[in-house]
Amino acid sequence: MLPRFDPTNHKACLSVLEDTTSNAKQVQDSVLEAILSCNAQTEYLRGFLSGQLDKQSFKKNLPIVTYEDCRSYIDRIANGESFNLICDRPFIVLLTRDKVQISPHEMTTCEDTTQRMFCQLLCGLLQRENVSRLDAPFASSFLKGFFFLGLLHLSPLLGRARDVTWRITGMNSNIRTGRVSDWITDAQCLSGISKFLTGPNPELAGLIEQECSKTSWEGIVKRLWPKAKCIEAIITGSMAQYIPMLEFYCGGLPLVSSLYVSSECSIGVNIDPLSKPCVFSYTIIPSMAYFEFLEVKKDHQETGHDLTENHVVVDLVDVKIGHDYEPVVTTFSGLYRYRVGDVLRVTGYYNNAPKFRFVGRQKVVLSIDMDKTYEEDLLKVVANATLLLEPHDLMLTDFTSRVDSSSFPRHYVLYWELGSKVKDVKVEPDPKVMEKCCFTVEESLDSVYRKGRRNDKNIGPLELKVVRSGAFDELMSFFVSRGSSVSQYKTPRSVTNEDAVKILEAAVVSKFVSRKIPSWELHELHSSR
Ligand code: AMP
Repeated sequence: MLPRFDPTNHKACLSVLEDTTSNAKQVQDSVLEAILSCNAQTEYLRGFLSGQLDKQSFKKNLPIVTYEDCRSYIDRIANGESFNLICDRPFIVLLTRDKVQISPHEMTTCEDTTQRMFCQLLCGLLQRENVSRLDAPFASSFLKGFFFLGLLHLSPLLGRARDVTWRITGMNSNIRTGRVSDWITDAQCLSGISKFLTGPNPELAGLIEQECSKTSWEGIVKRLWPKAKCIEAIITGSMAQYIPMLEFYCGGLPLVSSLYVSSECSIGVNIDPLSKPCVFSYTIIPSMAYFEFLEVKKDHQETGHDLTENHVVVDLVDVKIGHDYEPVVTTFSGLYRYRVGDVLRVTGYYNNAPKFRFVGRQKVVLSIDMDKTYEEDLLKVVANATLLLEPHDLMLTDFTSRVDSSSFPRHYVLYWELGSKVKDVKVEPDPKVMEKCCFTVEESLDSVYRKGRRNDKNIGPLELKVVRSGAFDELMSFFVSRGSSVSQYKTPRSVTNEDAVKILEAAVVSKFVSRKIPSWELHELHSSR
């Protein structure tokens, strides 16, 4: 039986958590049965199952698929064919959250991101005493909102306001005068903001101005929202890169990452949200979908994950502690044995449901020859190198990478956007420090890369290119203009799109390479993953 409960009743939620995780196998079997019987008449299932809806036929006849395999069905529905090609009911929303928020819900329907964010943040400032939690889907979207608040005049996303300063046209002048800026024209935003912007409030405007004009913005979130108890956003995986920035701006507020979710389906919850981000684990909720797991084998050359032809697929309750898997989901909304593309490591069990640590995307981001650098590896090496920036009051605000094939031998390129911890101070990285960063990155890459660099010489020296402030906003605007959603946008950790590369190249302000070649033999002794 699938659980029915009141999500606002905490006791009921905990009891569902206990029940579903204790009876994980039974719940999974009934979830699969329910999905197959609801959707039995869809073109997709009829094609593979011919009415045989038992678990064995499902496992035997339905292929494990990726987005590319489903694309034609999704495109057909998008082009007007019936939803029941894949699902028994129409698609109304992509992702919804049943949640208490400070700004009126109607504002979320405004299609103009600039107007919407401005008004939502304004609501947050006007009600600063009532804000108990600040959240965003991803750490990157949280920071985007925050930069929006502070760097209104710098962000290219906000073209129309870029040449005027935050104090004059920003939210504070609205608060001071009690009048919303003329460029806010969206009816839903205007109606929403009128509930809170009811008259001039020079006292609040003065207080905000005082906080924002301090030399450092360290801890500013806590000062602007004094009753906030935590920051909630996804901060694991590729989002871990933003933790130092969040810690800096949030001044000790706990960072909470309670969910492991995707557009495909909700997957797991972190039942120990106050633990340290590095040990976050997500317990899979067996009633969310039918979960299978593809074992991800690490190859023997320290190069990360490799899916072999004969991969093993196991059920939720059969995963082994310490092993890596890619989730394969069968959902109520039309995805059958669909590979999510993430790599998860089993850290234990909560009752009978496994707990996983998010490892990264199942994706090689950089490769020249025999070397394969996975997203997880790249995140680790960049995190290592950026430790060198800390004594210089610099932060890595975003990064990406690519292989430069125009040189011989080809080489890795990293694009870094840097920010200063001291407000309004120009970012001028010391070349010696940056060269050391290059060396640290190369030295931390795996032995295949280092061998290619040092012995075989088929990989050229890694280049670190610093881009001007705002370059990654431009990159986001570019991808958003091609259909990505702002709130779900995640900076790609490697770029191949030529136009995206042009945006980055046009923003390069300085370039560095290491003066030293990375070692190989020495590290080989320590390299066991
Ligand atoms: P989207 O499909 O845009 O909703 O993004 C879903 C993807 O975000 C997942 O497949 C993961 O790669 C990533 N993600 C979601 N939750 C987490 C989490 N708690 N930690 C790390 N990455 C996550």
